Amino acid sequence: MIDLRSDTVTKPTKEMREAAFNAEVGDDVYGEDPAVNKLEEEAAAVLGKEAALFVTSGTQGNQIAVLTHCRPGQELLLEAESHIFYYESGAVSALAGVQTRTIQGSRGAMDPQFVRSAIRPEDIHFPDTGLICLENTHNRAGGAVVPIENMKQIYEIGAENHIPVHVDGARLFNAAAALDVSVTDFTQYCDTVQVCLSKGLGAPVGSLLAGDKEFIVKARKWRKRLGGGLRQAGLIAAPAYVALTTMRERLFEDHHLARYFADALKNINGIQVVNEVETNIVVVDVANLQMGSQAFVNELEKQGVLAVTFGPTSVRFTTHHQVNKGDIERTIDFVAKISAVPSK
Ligand SMILES: *Cc1c(COP(=O)(O)O)cnc(C)c1O
Repeated sequence: MIDLRSDTVTKPTKEMREAAFNAEVGDDVYGEDPAVNKLEEEAAAVLGKEAALFVTSGTQGNQIAVLTHCRPGQELLLEAESHIFYYESGAVSALAGVQTRTIQGSRGAMDPQFVRSAIRPEDIHFPDTGLICLENTHNRAGGAVVPIENMKQIYEIGAENHIPVHVDGARLFNAAAALDVSVTDFTQYCDTVQVCLSKGLGAPVGSLLAGDKEFIVKARKWRKRLGGGLRQAGLIAAPAYVALTTMRERLFEDHHLARYFADALKNINGIQVVNEVETNIVVVDVANLQMGSQAFVNELEKQGVLAVTFGPTSVRFTTHHQVNKGDIERTIDFVAKISAVPSK
């Protein structure tokens, strides 16, 4: 199977498995796991923040951020197709008791002036705006990089109004690789950030949440409340450390492969590439084939290629370090074959 459903399907490398095997461990709830402590220190340095917390997933990291920043009854400003709004099972309302106010972005970026005007002034009728969330790269915008300048403007608007900014940076390292800049060029314009280690970086489990020391102390307590206090977590932190320190430098390869794939797909009749491919995600629309996205995905699966539906007629493909150029070339041939058959 050629698995292009997501970069989350990557299996740990030999080096990661060895790191897990050799990890020195302790009880992390007591703060005594050396591998976890080492990972959190490295993450804080890489992300340019005072402290970091190892969490079980990107969703858990984002939810802990919302819980730590906000109080129930507050309002959260976020992009209309952001992961926190679209794909986290309604957790911000179920867990943090906040209401969401969504802003339609353009290629994943919210217009700073729309953010400014959505911030609530003091009024007995209004909820308080508790937090602004950004997403970079933006998944539903096809892995689009939200520009540093856009983040800067929104961060400044937040600061003027004493509203913190959290970045869902599940794929922030892809954004840094795409622009060939340091990840701190982005994180200087946020209070807190969540990054996934189990996507393009290939770790088996885990994400990191980073911010100032005071924030991380409170976040650690929220993690415990959510049942995320792990014991000998060094077994997963050690491979996560390998991911964080050795896998970032190869993300550009995934981006090149995605662009190569998209360029080839553009030559296939009936297939429309809908995103401008900046990172490792390619989104196509198959409406011209007179078939829905599920039927298209089913046809691909028969050929041994896995992809995911992204809307009634759109399909998402994601490149990662366990697909190579040969896999992509075979996929291009299969897509051409499916597209050539007139559907009933
Ligand atoms: C994958 C993803 C998450 C959540 O990560 P999980 O580890 O799957 O919970 C959050 N935000 C974005 C943008 C993502 O792509």
